[in-house]
Amino acid sequence: MGVNHRRAIYPGSFDPVTFGHLDVISRASHLFDSVIVAVATGEGKKPLFSVADRIAMLKESTSDNSAVEVVSLDGLLVDFARKRNVFTVIRGLRAVSDFEFEFQMALMNRKLESRLETVFLTPKEDYTYLSSRIVKEVSRLGGDVSLFIPAPAAKKLREIIR
Ligand code: ADP
Repeated sequence: MGVNHRRAIYPGSFDPVTFGHLDVISRASHLFDSVIVAVATGEGKKPLFSVADRIAMLKESTSDNSAVEVVSLDGLLVDFARKRNVFTVIRGLRAVSDFEFEFQMALMNRKLESRLETVFLTPKEDYTYLSSRIVKEVSRLGGDVSLFIPAPAAKKLREIIR
């Protein structure tokens, strides 16, 4: 089977999903026939939410978009790409601060698998300051995060942080 150029993989931690991630997913789904959102199990990163919870929150918030598939990602992205025969990877760029890490990742991935290309998408300006990390911090300090993450994620975050 040939490489599927009409699909893309959007990998990340999504701990938890934010409106910034959803904006990137929506933009990617306009560019590609379908988008595989791959949730890194990432034990090394010590995520707050289990991979099952992160997947459930993403599925709930993308249920209206039939072009989106949400799955877990164990191990190397390039192995996942080979397994699915999809070699286009989506990543989000919010600001210059994202660039160095994203650039390094893109080049490393292409070193590991020469067919792999990374496509960078920028979110709506309103979301450029948003990160899962800052949302968790605001929630921990008692702030309202409903402006930054979808309702099911906000509910789960309140439950887990209390
Ligand atoms: P990772 O732990 O792999 O960086 P994240 O879930 O934090 O996973 O982010 C996944 C991807 O989405 C990254 O490319 C990141 O830069 C991008 N991203 C995160 N938040 C936003 C946002 N608010 N707007 C656009 N892209 C974002």
